[in-house]
Amino acid sequence: MIGDNLSHISESIARSARAAGRRPEDVHLVAVSKTVGIDLIGEAMACGQTLFGENYLQEAAVKIPLLSPMARWHFIGHLQSNKARQAVELFDVIETVDRWKIAKILDAHAQQAGKTLAVLIQVNIGREKQKSGVLPEETETLLRRIKGETSLRVLGLMAMPPFSDDPEQSRPFFRSLRKLAQHLAPLHLFADNNRIELSMGMSNDYTVAVEEGATLVRIGTALFGSRKP
Ligand SMILES: *Cc1c(COP(=O)(O)O)cnc(C)c1O
Repeated sequence: MIGDNLSHISESIARSARAAGRRPEDVHLVAVSKTVGIDLIGEAMACGQTLFGENYLQEAAVKIPLLSPMARWHFIGHLQSNKARQAVELFDVIETVDRWKIAKILDAHAQQAGKTLAVLIQVNIGREKQKSGVLPEETETLLRRIKGETSLRVLGLMAMPPFSDDPEQSRPFFRSLRKLAQHLAPLHLFADNNRIELSMGMSNDYTVAVEEGATLVRIGTALFGSRKP
């Protein structure tokens, strides 16, 4: 089942990438494994999937050590300061840096651990009150401070558009995240300004996200099936 889902998803990604004149290999699948047991994650790994995303520190701390060190882990949940040390230990990339305070704490723990930590900046692209993320117009200031005062490697931007059943509703938000990255690229605030990662698109709208420039799509239910509440 996981194998079939994986092939279906990678075919859809490839089709959308080609339709947009992009190379399929420039888009990577982050398999979102929150609430998913290690047996299913192991099955995905046996099918060749190595990149995973988790939302909850407590859950990740139990699962990650039980799985192959070949796996790469992205943290995609909301990060609290008192969990930053554990996040640095467990994860390869923190996708949800959205304020100076958390950037500074992550950097301190990374330096202590002798690790160069890669992060993405989470942008509140739909300007939603209840959502995390730095506002689009405040992204440059946050990036400047991170570049000037930390050794974090900022790979790119991450966003979640306002929820909708209709994937086309997400398109303008995906597009505006790409525009923001294009606007910031000449300022040289990212680790690689020729390849700024854009983490956008989930199970219901990832094909639209790929058409609009996603380099990382975060997919849970379309791969592992629906989550128990
Ligand atoms: C749960 C989650 C996903 C995956 O959602 P699906 O709809 O199951 O694909 C992606 N990104 C974030 C930040 C999530 O919390």
